[in-house]
Amino acid sequence: MKRDFTRREFIKISGIGLGGLAASGSLLRFASDVLGYGNAYPHKVLRTPTYCEMCTFKCAGWAYRLDGKPWKIIGNENDQHCYGRLCTKGSAGFGAYDDPDRLKTPLIRMQERGKQVFKEVSWDEAFNYIASKLKRIAKEYGPECVALFTHGTGGSFFKTFLQGYGSDNIAAPSYANCRGPREEAYLLTFGDAISTPERTDMSNSKCIVLIGSHIGENTHSSQVYEFGQAIHRGATIITVDPRFSVAASKSKYWLPIKPGTDMALLLAWINVVIEEELYDKEYVKKYTIGFDELRKSVKDDTPEWAYPITTIKPEIIRETAREMARYLPATLIHPGRHVVWYGDDTQRVRAGAILNALLGSWGRRGGFFMPVEPDVPEYPHPQFPKPKRSWRDAFPGKFELANLALSSGICEATIPSARSDCNFKGWIVYGTNLLHALPDRKKTIEAIHNLDLLVVVDILPSEISGWADVVLPECTYLERYDDLRTEWGRESQIALRMPAFQPKYNTKPAWWMAKQLADKMGLGQYFSWKNIEEYLDYRLKKAGTSLREMQEIGVKVLKRETPLYFAKGEEVKFATPSGKIELYSKTLKDYGFDPVPRYVHHEEPPKGYYRLLYGRSPSHSFGRTTNNPLLTQMDPENEIWINTDVSKEWGLKDGQYLRLENQDQVVSNRVKVKVTERIRADCIYMVHGFGHDQKRLKRSYMKGASDTGLITRTKIDPIMGGVGMRANFVTFNV
Ligand code: SF4
Repeated sequence: MKRDFTRREFIKISGIGLGGLAASGSLLRFASDVLGYGNAYPHKVLRTPTYCEMCTFKCAGWAYRLDGKPWKIIGNENDQHCYGRLCTKGSAGFGAYDDPDRLKTPLIRMQERGKQVFKEVSWDEAFNYIASKLKRIAKEYGPECVALFTHGTGGSFFKTFLQGYGSDNIAAPSYANCRGPREEAYLLTFGDAISTPERTDMSNSKCIVLIGSHIGENTHSSQVYEFGQAIHRGATIITVDPRFSVAASKSKYWLPIKPGTDMALLLAWINVVIEEELYDKEYVKKYTIGFDELRKSVKDDTPEWAYPITTIKPEIIRETAREMARYLPATLIHPGRHVVWYGDDTQRVRAGAILNALLGSWGRRGGFFMPVEPDVPEYPHPQFPKPKRSWRDAFPGKFELANLALSSGICEATIPSARSDCNFKGWIVYGTNLLHALPDRKKTIEAIHNLDLLVVVDILPSEISGWADVVLPECTYLERYDDLRTEWGRESQIALRMPAFQPKYNTKPAWWMAKQLADKMGLGQYFSWKNIEEYLDYRLKKAGTSLREMQEIGVKVLKRETPLYFAKGEEVKFATPSGKIELYSKTLKDYGFDPVPRYVHHEEPPKGYYRLLYGRSPSHSFGRTTNNPLLTQMDPENEIWINTDVSKEWGLKDGQYLRLENQDQVVSNRVKVKVTERIRADCIYMVHGFGHDQKRLKRSYMKGASDTGLITRTKIDPIMGGVGMRANFVTFNV
């Protein structure tokens, strides 16, 4: 079964995927055409529907086997997450399947935590161990003292398990440590979230403003495709970034802003749009409240005021504001994705949301469309027990506007303290390497030392698995059925993931683990289906299709019943307390926060230090991809971007290795220097996900530096508990 890919072969396959070859007609003819064999192609080609798990965007595709061996993965042409084109990572899914470093069998810890001395056990032994610990925790402390950290599709089965057990402490690092402030800011303003895939109508935008968003380096397929379409149509792109990113290189305006001052620019733009009466008057009058309060609040936030703060010249601020207004409502201030920067993130994203409201882009072509999602009923199960406590009780009176559990908050509440009577005793960690996903590694390890049980479910031996009591090896997404993909979008779509291969080694899918564990715990009533096929078929039939049909088509497109945009003059009731778009938020005021965003000055780097910025590369999502045998051939380590003048000052050469040291004397792995004009002199930049110190990850061990390792200081968003991570400064340890 094993087949090693060469880099050359992989690039060829990626190219086919990117070209979006149509897989219509007979599969045999398709293969014959591609390979030039005519009708005499002697090999057996099979394709299986899947959706990708190389990042969280879940693009639907086809996994092809050639004579039973992995051949290629391409996008599903009907899928709105990818429009038939997968990114580099998605095309490299077989690398995850073929990674020899994979976890291979269940493990139980034999020595103290972190020593990584495990014994191999059977699945039954592993489940018995976990069940007895969970029963004891429930008896001694209550089931609410167990939390689930989850990132990835299979986590939904562990959610059901935990809720059946009696806890709703279910946290995704993607909320408080990534896009949570964005969702809350749009909920506060428009009464609705942005979610994934983003409801941005970039393919019809005439002007797109990116603030710290590097679409193109972050390769979420439909976002990149639509952004490319906008560029192709000649849309004005305005990119605000201290770094000359790929997106900046496609822009009419690049605004190399001083890091930490984006709020001042946004307020100055709002000032210009209001004072020059450039806003969409009819829209603002009909749909919004709080315009007068907003106008009053930003009266002094002129471009001249913003200039010394942001270093962006007043005439450029005015010119770009006018450019945005020229194309309204087809102007999109992109809401971003990873928005946890300085602790005022909900307010900063809200300033962008307010600007969108003034330009009338919500519910309008070229702005934000109104998404729909399929109605796919759940498999019936008894009601979950009502937990006596929730994660909110761990921080009374704080973060009351958070709508989801906070990962860093749960981590902190696991460490006993005088002000907390709710300490977590058990963690189930599904698909997220918490030691790289959460900042302040020391604190995470301290929390782990206070646990009675740490279960890690993963594909690879990530750093967090080295601290586990029990490690449960999951098979890759190419070896399993999973829950259905039912995310919203322009269209109502359902996507199926089914196994292209039998699981390698002694690995299992998450649905099987959660069901087995539930049986051991006497919670089988929450998993009353016989097998996953029955579970999926039940849900699919209720939604008007079937497992059989989905196995053929992969993506089901359901009829959209409602319009994509508001009709002209339509009465719209927004899901905010006032029923209007809230430029002024009484909710925020009632909770003691600024009802209209205001500028807050953020600490600047001391002399000789530089602000640490981080982001994505096109070939990696996070730690899981940095060990992928295909992707590491293309992009084996990260580099630090250092401005040319800074390199001269320090005598640094392009390509040399050095270590970074942060303000708390934490020193990184050695990392390669990239000297460039493409970044300001007050910051450095690196790609996230590298710098592993887990020896079992043989390809990524000690390759590059970890940004998370250097993030020892955070700024917590008081509105919803988001963890701002751009508060760290580094210097060079040469
Ligand atoms: S964006 Fe790329 S990695 Fe992410 S789901 Fe789509 S194909 Fe996979």
